[in-house]
Amino acid sequence: MSLREDLARIVGADAVRDSEAARQVYDGDAYPIERSKPLCIAFPKNTDQVAQLVRYCVAHDVPFTPRGAGTGLSGGAMPALGGVVVSTKRMTAILEIDVANRRLRAQSGIANKRISDAVAQFGLHFAPDPSSQSVSTLGGNIAENAGGPHTLKYGVTVRHILSATLVLPDGDVVELGRGVPGGPGLDLLGVVVGSEGTTGIVTEATVRLTPLPAAVRTTLAAFPSVRAATECVAGIISAGVIPAAMELMDRGILGALRAAFGLTYPEDAAALLLIECDGLPESVEREQAVVEAECRERGALEVRVAQSEAERQSLWVARKKGIGAMGRLAPTIVTHDGVIPRSQLPQMLEDVAEIAAAHGLSVANLFHAGDGNLHPCIYFDEREPGIVERVISAGEQILRKCVELGGSVSGEHGIGVEKMDLLTLMFSPDDLEVQARTKAIFNPGSLGNPCKILPNQKGCHEHRMRWRGAAT
Ligand SMILES: Cc1cc2nc3c(=O)[nH]c(=O)nc-3n(C[C@H](O)[C@H](O)[C@H](O)COP(=O)(O)OP(=O)(O)OC[C@H]3O[C@@H](n4cnc5c(N)ncnc54)[C@H](O)[C@@H]3O)c2cc1C
Repeated sequence: MSLREDLARIVGADAVRDSEAARQVYDGDAYPIERSKPLCIAFPKNTDQVAQLVRYCVAHDVPFTPRGAGTGLSGGAMPALGGVVVSTKRMTAILEIDVANRRLRAQSGIANKRISDAVAQFGLHFAPDPSSQSVSTLGGNIAENAGGPHTLKYGVTVRHILSATLVLPDGDVVELGRGVPGGPGLDLLGVVVGSEGTTGIVTEATVRLTPLPAAVRTTLAAFPSVRAATECVAGIISAGVIPAAMELMDRGILGALRAAFGLTYPEDAAALLLIECDGLPESVEREQAVVEAECRERGALEVRVAQSEAERQSLWVARKKGIGAMGRLAPTIVTHDGVIPRSQLPQMLEDVAEIAAAHGLSVANLFHAGDGNLHPCIYFDEREPGIVERVISAGEQILRKCVELGGSVSGEHGIGVEKMDLLTLMFSPDDLEVQARTKAIFNPGSLGNPCKILPNQKGCHEHRMRWRGAAT
């Protein structure tokens, strides 16, 4: 029997794909530099089917790669060694809404935003809000420990996961966490969150729900320079205010928004800062006064404060549509993800511009400024000879600089295949050995999402195919 027929016996014939077109669609994610085609894609509908698929793969020595919506930006869902992609596309059910205990249980393929939409009627939401939230899945958010604009105040995904059902890479099924905060023993759920699918496949999870804020004030401020905007970020936080969100967009993004959607901002604006304060009405008003005063003191050209929910949504358009708008500028975008102490933002953004210029590349920035979480977006046409190498080199220099300034090579997009080699900038060989041993406890045969996160994995180097050399 063929692999396709074997898998069809587990999930049904209509839930397996192996056509050339399907293999190409599933050969990577939103990180455009590396591709590798799977042999088959399977679409299980529950934990039992996922466990059977994994047991089949182990018995036949076939690598397998979990996949949510494929919006990952570091190559995590790319099936580096081929094998089977296990897609959670059909696992989208909400299993329980528990308003009294402010929690919700769902299958891992549910889109992030659907969770908040389902509980809005109870005055609740799921706080992690990656900008991809209308499509990216709960399982992908857990695997990447995703952040988002509002994680400045509410914290990243790990703070909002109470328990998870995990199919281990040998096919055993375990429940981690008890559905209530805390718990005795080693925090294995904490190890799984952020492990990018290398410790198993999350099939269900119970998430913490957070009350919707009683009051929200949203401000869009235009600045004459990126430096003024970044100094404003540090100024607001130094003044004792932690807004719910503080997002920065530079001139490159504004140009893309003009081209794509005809959105207009002050002509001489070099950067926009979107700042949102939320909470109880009195504290929000107090915080808002500080925000407006800081913006004006730092030379803002214009400060718009939303007067209605509709206006608030229109101010968020710049942030939400920024990456999409960049599609107008060039066919390919690599979105980098580094972190620095926020006081270093002014220096770092100048360094990003210099590094891009030295490589002859165009860059635009839109990012979670309050967290110091940079997203330099390098846009280019991959058909230009030699440009991919320049993009990779510029990205590495930017991330090296982040580490030099006391930061990290990733804030929220994970390591995937993109940044494995850069981990040596942050960890000693002994540190990496401890991480490799921890991973091996969950994934001893390395069949589960191989060649991800940790450098120097056996048998992986030759499979790292660059750009168009992707034929399997
Ligand atoms: C326009 C855009 C905006 C974005 N904005 C943000 C942002 O604001 N914040 C942020 O953090 N990220 C952001 N991202 C990155 C991405 O959306 C997140 O990393 C998201 O969490 C990935 O979810 P996904 O369902 O697409 O996962 P995929 O891309 O399918 O997979 C990501 C990783 O998770 C693993 N995985 C997927 N499902 C499971 C599962 N059920 N069990 C175990 N492992 C699994 C995969 O193997 C892979 O390693 C953005 C991406 C885009 C394209």
